[in-house]
Amino acid sequence: MTTRWRPYGRQCIDDNDIKAVVDVLRSDWLTTGPQVPAFEAEFAQAVGARYAVAVNSGTAALHTAMNAAGIASGDDVLVPALTFAASANSVVYQGGTPVFVDVDPNTLLIDIENARSKINQRTKAIVAVDYAGQPCDYDKLNALADEYNLTLIADACHSLGGKYHDKPVGSLARLNTFSLHPVKPITSGEGGMITTDDSRLAELMRRFRNHGITTDHRQREKSGACYYDMVSLGFNYRLTDLQAALGKSQLAKLADWTRRRNEIADCYDEQLAGIEQVTGLVKQPDILHAYHLYVIRAESPELRDYLFASMRAEQIGVTVHYRPVHMHPYYREEFGTEPGLCPVAEAAAARILSLPIYPAMNENDVRDIVSVLTRCIENYVESSLSVS
Ligand SMILES: *Cc1c(COP(=O)(O)O)cnc(C)c1O
Repeated sequence: MTTRWRPYGRQCIDDNDIKAVVDVLRSDWLTTGPQVPAFEAEFAQAVGARYAVAVNSGTAALHTAMNAAGIASGDDVLVPALTFAASANSVVYQGGTPVFVDVDPNTLLIDIENARSKINQRTKAIVAVDYAGQPCDYDKLNALADEYNLTLIADACHSLGGKYHDKPVGSLARLNTFSLHPVKPITSGEGGMITTDDSRLAELMRRFRNHGITTDHRQREKSGACYYDMVSLGFNYRLTDLQAALGKSQLAKLADWTRRRNEIADCYDEQLAGIEQVTGLVKQPDILHAYHLYVIRAESPELRDYLFASMRAEQIGVTVHYRPVHMHPYYREEFGTEPGLCPVAEAAAARILSLPIYPAMNENDVRDIVSVLTRCIENYVESSLSVS
């Protein structure tokens, strides 16, 4: 009998991670010190980008990217409907309007033709969410962005470690944003990162995360100036050295963990193949999936709701990613978004379920989870037969 709660995702911390954080606690710096630029340099290298700018959450990364892209009042930004609210909220922080785009029914990635149909004079940027860890079609998205002079912002919070046509996630869009929350591919407790090849945008983002101040105190000591210049409105979005040390230690394990997540996903694929009431998402050719999530679709919303409740009762922390953002009360009230705006995302949201996946899981965990799933489906089929 399984009694241990299995979350849909969780961190993996070892003694090296602990030592890295404790070493910082014994050092002179707790907040931004030498660990932050060291982490940024290794992160940039790992994803094949020139610059990486560390911030204190994935949400801060998105906000910082929106600011760097120049999003302001009167601007529209295309955002896929099936994502975490922060993908759209970051547009609103800048005074812009998120325009919700439907998703492809097979991959649940942004529907590029639907995005094209929603472009107008006000459209300034497009957010690509690598849903579940599968990279979007960046060749097509970059071509669309170039055609209409839009900034492409990858919300890669799910897909660190993934690749598109052999290019790592983080080097695929003008601005690429990451979350380092504990359920994400690597963690720093809370944290975020933006990568870019554009030195001007990198500079803007370093300033934005530090109140809009042009120099940090070390540069100031060097130059001997007694004042600093605050030249634009910024925030305190700084990552601490404690967090950067943890993130850097975790980054060393990313490639192994991505491989492990793919093995777990293959295991699920195999074991779920014979179960006709649920299907997986379609994986595109020539990509490396980061498998932040392993998402299945139930054949009906009723079955999904039944599985959600019954699997949770069996200690399996299945979750729904996500309720479409335009369906949330805030967006309905403030932006007048209504059901029917993104029908594919809405229909998918009623049938999806995320099963547990994280690097510390093994084949037996997958077998246990699939056997609970199978049993729950059998119970559901029996109960619906007895009703009819
Ligand atoms: C996790 C996540 C975010 C926000 O990241 P935080 O670090 O929690 O602020 C944004 N977008 C997506 C798609 C995410 O999954």
